[in-house]
Amino acid sequence: MAMTIEDKLGLNRFNVDGTPHIEINGNYDDQTLKERLVMACPAKLYTLREDNTVDFNYEGCLECGTCRVLTGGRIVKSWDHPIGGMGVAFKKG
Ligand code: SF4
Repeated sequence: MAMTIEDKLGLNRFNVDGTPHIEINGNYDDQTLKERLVMACPAKLYTLREDNTVDFNYEGCLECGTCRVLTGGRIVKSWDHPIGGMGVAFKKG
């Protein structure tokens, strides 16, 4: 039986040290961009709160860069790879 995307993602390992490698401005005033960001992250790490601010959890980040490119300095204020040895370790590509 073929593995689903979710099955494959579940095999990845994440090393985190409490230092977020991505910083955001969850109050950024562009509702459309916030909704696009929530939909675009393949790991579903961005969520829209009831007050329309964006919440974010860096743990589980796949380091794809989609959020950085999509928001172009808005919402995502800074983006970097985690320091050596931290972040995602892919198991199935
Ligand atoms: S780099 Fe990719 S996986 Fe990580 S938060 Fe941004 S969009 Fe999500």
